[in-house]
Amino acid sequence: MTGKEQIKVIFIASEAAPFIKVGGLGDVAGSLPFAIAQLPEAPDIRMAIPLHTGIDQSEFDLKPVTSFKVKRKNRTVLAEVFQTEVDGLTVYLIGGAPFAKAELVYTSDTLADGDKFTFFSLAALELCKQLDWQPDILHAQDWHTSPAVYALKTTLKDDPFFANTASLLTVHNLPYLGNGAGPALKAYGLPPAANSSLPDWAQDIPLPLGLLAANKINTVSSGYANEMLTPEFGAGMEDFLKTRKKDMIGIVNGLDESAWDPSTDSAIAANFSSDTLQERQKNKLALQQEVGLGQDPEIPLLAFIGRMDYQKGIEIAIGALRLIANLPWQAVILGTGDPAIEAQAEKLAAEFPDKVSAVIRYDGALARRIYAGSDMMMIPSRYEPCGLIQMIAMRYASVPAARATGGLRDTITDFNKSDQSTGFLFQKASSTAMARALRRALKVFPDKRRWTALQKRGMKQDFSWKNSAVKYLDIYASLLNTNK
Ligand code: ADP
Repeated sequence: MTGKEQIKVIFIASEAAPFIKVGGLGDVAGSLPFAIAQLPEAPDIRMAIPLHTGIDQSEFDLKPVTSFKVKRKNRTVLAEVFQTEVDGLTVYLIGGAPFAKAELVYTSDTLADGDKFTFFSLAALELCKQLDWQPDILHAQDWHTSPAVYALKTTLKDDPFFANTASLLTVHNLPYLGNGAGPALKAYGLPPAANSSLPDWAQDIPLPLGLLAANKINTVSSGYANEMLTPEFGAGMEDFLKTRKKDMIGIVNGLDESAWDPSTDSAIAANFSSDTLQERQKNKLALQQEVGLGQDPEIPLLAFIGRMDYQKGIEIAIGALRLIANLPWQAVILGTGDPAIEAQAEKLAAEFPDKVSAVIRYDGALARRIYAGSDMMMIPSRYEPCGLIQMIAMRYASVPAARATGGLRDTITDFNKSDQSTGFLFQKASSTAMARALRRALKVFPDKRRWTALQKRGMKQDFSWKNSAVKYLDIYASLLNTNK
């Protein structure tokens, strides 16, 4: 910023591509700070993430910067910080015993996860001190880094170093509140918010504490920002969130368009663009072969990619596929998560071996080949704060068939509604409603002219980060010198 001092922003997240990615948060943290750093009036934005054991350290040029102790009960935990530059952005990776012990980024043990992410959150703040780099803005994501937001308002409230640090908390997934992490917060000296406006049950849970303490809150689509205020989507926090409505805003996620580009993607069989869409068929044939389905360019190939948990509604899709089993189609399913849901996908594949292939694992390269080779992407989410899968699918000309909720509704235009349509939407989270949408899509599919037009419109959508990055910068600027 010319003439003015640059705004300093510490962006903290539990995961970020290209270091480590479990879901959409990894994509967002791996692209949003970079997009902000490239704006004309860019702030001095730096990112901190944990040094998870899953990060391949040999892939990055990690330089040790500092180490210090974080207080926990009657002992201390050593934090060791490394630094690297990615596309001009400074990234700090904070390691220590809590991460050395954990193999996965997230586990079902919220107390252990709470412990490691509270350690990380507090270490990220302490790091700023160690660097004598006073942030104007702390930008935290989800429950994992909410303890940092809460610390600013409690244990660090009177710390002159953070006197001018305001906070923004981005909610990528509201129902993951961090339930059960309370004792970990306490162990690191963060007291429950007794007598606060939070519901009684939420007074020692990380995300509610973050929502209570943050100067501003945003979520990742306008649709979800409204839905969060309702009992269906509010995860019990809807009444509290209504009290914070004036500080809340929805900003839709963008996509890292260079990382998701079918014309350059090296993981796929044949590169293509909207001008060379005929090349795409090679990807379909290659995919059918790779996942063990009969090679046939004409048969519609449906796909599902995603975390196998309740949110993603894969059982809805499984039921819908059964309802349309008499129609010609194939389906490929890629996902991992809840073993009971994985088993349902495997059962479907066993029932329809010629039609369905289920791949139960995390496989980034296969995901790319599925985006590039499938005809339709099934996205039956029960709720979806933003969703990236539909955006990636559209860029790769796989037409989304999705539940009309949150960010999915905001980013897909239904075929019925206009000649601007980019996909097929259904309202109810039920197999019957989804089967109806799939039947509609399957009817249009043989009409090559209309189908190609649908694909091309999807490919041309502007999912770049630019507009959204500017909105984040506006929030940062609005938070300067706020009365905290
Ligand atoms: P969420 O963040 O809720 O998981 P999103 O739609 O925002 O959902 O993002 C999911 C991201 O994770 C996409 O980039 C998708 O391709 C990727 N992904 C999910 N499951 C898998 C998997 N099993 N293998 C490879 N990539 C996956």
